[in-house]
Amino acid sequence: METQLEELRQQLEKQCQLNQELERQNKDLEQRLQEKEKLLQELQSHYHDLEFPSQGNNEVEPEVRKSRAAVMAPESIPENLEITRTKVKKSGSETSLIVKAIKKNDFLSRLDDEQTAMMVDLLVAFDYSPGNEIIKEGSEGDSMYIVAAGELLVTQAGRNLRTLTRGDVFGELAILYNCKRTATVKAKTVVSLWCMERQTYRTIITNKSKKKREQLMGFLKTSRTLKDLNDVQLSKIIDSMEEVKYQDKDVIVREGTEGNTFYIILKGEVLVTKNVSGHQKQIRRMGKGEHFGEQALIREVLRTATCTADGPVTCFSIDKEVFEETIPIEHLELFDDSKVLHETAVPGRSSASSSLKFKDLVPVYYQEGRYQGEPVTLGVGGFGRVELVISMNQGNYYAIKRVSKMHIVAKRQEEHVLFEKKILKAIQSDFIVRLHAAFRDTRYIYMVMEFCSGGEIWTKLKEVGRFDEPIAVFCTACVVEAYAYLHKKSIMYRDLKPENLMLDARGYVKLVDFGFAKEMVRGEKTYSFVGTPEYIAPEIIQNQGHDFAVDFWSLGILIFELLVGSPPFSSSEPQKIYAKILDGVLKYPPYMSEAAKSIISKLCRPRPGQRLGNTKNGIKDVRHHRWFSSMNWHKLRVGQVDAPTIRLIRKGPCYINFDSFPYDQPKAEEEFSDWDRDF
Ligand code: ATP
Ligand code: MG
Repeated sequence: METQLEELRQQLEKQCQLNQELERQNKDLEQRLQEKEKLLQELQSHYHDLEFPSQGNNEVEPEVRKSRAAVMAPESIPENLEITRTKVKKSGSETSLIVKAIKKNDFLSRLDDEQTAMMVDLLVAFDYSPGNEIIKEGSEGDSMYIVAAGELLVTQAGRNLRTLTRGDVFGELAILYNCKRTATVKAKTVVSLWCMERQTYRTIITNKSKKKREQLMGFLKTSRTLKDLNDVQLSKIIDSMEEVKYQDKDVIVREGTEGNTFYIILKGEVLVTKNVSGHQKQIRRMGKGEHFGEQALIREVLRTATCTADGPVTCFSIDKEVFEETIPIEHLELFDDSKVLHETAVPGRSSASSSLKFKDLVPVYYQEGRYQGEPVTLGVGGFGRVELVISMNQGNYYAIKRVSKMHIVAKRQEEHVLFEKKILKAIQSDFIVRLHAAFRDTRYIYMVMEFCSGGEIWTKLKEVGRFDEPIAVFCTACVVEAYAYLHKKSIMYRDLKPENLMLDARGYVKLVDFGFAKEMVRGEKTYSFVGTPEYIAPEIIQNQGHDFAVDFWSLGILIFELLVGSPPFSSSEPQKIYAKILDGVLKYPPYMSEAAKSIISKLCRPRPGQRLGNTKNGIKDVRHHRWFSSMNWHKLRVGQVDAPTIRLIRKGPCYINFDSFPYDQPKAEEEFSDWDRDF
């Protein structure tokens, strides 16, 4: 009995020890868990800082701040550059080297299969000797290269950066638009390169996109359900459609299931079968250009047959839901007055300003600070300088934009500048800066605009880091009003960014800078490359042709930038920005509201036809989005909403809300080609 008791006691003791040990281990684990959690939190906050750097809070003010420059490809696209003329035959190993090079490049790898195949076809071979310079830092580039053999040295400001070898790509940004080379590239050994010029690339890709649209249009016109729609409506449908790929034997639609998608076959063959007494019976075979499932777009139907891919198949498809968003277009805010830029549309300029004389406008000078005594410069853009002047007889302030004519001619911007003036002159909206007069002399053209004394939204954003929601909602609402006005007059804006948004004295936001605006017929597309990298829509980067939808894309980017302090797709290298835009992955910071995330993701949809603002109800859908639920649009239009932005505006000398800039001393050269005779 006693021995049994003793045994039990010993067992109990052991158990106790074990328990204690387990408890200790538990505590240990808990502590380690806590430590890990702390570390995770720290890492998350670091990650957040990296992902969403808040700029401006503790940044030293730069010497002269330049806004993010807009970019463009000024060449027009010849209609009939034949692809066969520019094609260069490649061997299998050459093709595989090129494809590999493209696939490992950040930007090029995002181009679709067709574009990649075109690049392979269009590259031409060049050989260089040691010491030859292929790219010069600071010069303007128009070609990209892939190294086929040999070694090259990359230098920047005389410093060696890296060596390029077989399969490396360089200068790729130049195929999109005219850009300054940021480094010099020289051959170290004998070198063979594959080279492609921008003009070739843009022409081929653009003409291909145009042809593809025309072809799709033709396919759609053979559909019984869609044949009554007009070209504008069909074009809208194309904008909403998406490419889908299928493998051999994939079932695309299954008999008896609910149908809600319409398909056009772009590539490959599809077998149509029906269940007859338990057996699949083939009814027909469909090929390129044929379509199926159209009934699903207009009524509730069950599929009456099964469609299966026979070999690889590519289709263009649209879902019923998206289709309903796109059509009927009768409900769109359709615009009757396409001749808005007609001369009669100019009235309403205040009588005081119409009598403005150039000689009556005198500069306003800085009263203190670094540039005391020099004329006040309000802003420096890619093209011009904007200076503050006062009219001697009325005492009114004006902002005068002065652009070198030589510069305009060198950059082939004559048409843009003439159009900017023409648009601004015709516009009468409280959400767009007024143009009061325009002048020219032998060196410059001048545009005398209303002075927006509150400064740029960009400056304010940098000052506070990011805007709270009411301010962002208000600023965006003003832009929506400006867009409604412009789009109704068939004008796309194409250069939205905080740098082009100015505050007037009441804190209302106005669009300035119409250098990239364009008048467009609904249903048509334009193929130029324009905009500011962070704000450019994917269809522009892909040369697919674009229209008013790009303005809604940039509106989404703007909302993001206002709420976060930096845009969603950013990098110091433009090609990385473009790669991110094409990936289209939006990462929202945790503090962003659900409504904000919702409106941004709807505006930044990759397919232009599915973008909020560009579907059947047009811009109304933007106004009705819940992010704007606090906005009284009518009151906004008549100027009765108290602007929350007013607290961002500083009081003091008239230029206090602007960064200061040194005066531009050297005079521009004279230019006499007379392109501006009607200015
Ligand atoms: P970009 O590089 O954007 O094409 P740009 O040379 O065409 O520039 P604008 O954007 O029209 O020039 O103007 C440059 C800057 O001048 C603006 O960002 C702004 O700071 C200032 N500015 C322009 N218009 C006005 C105005 N009406 N009132 C006050 N400041 C203005
Ligand atoms: Mg600008």
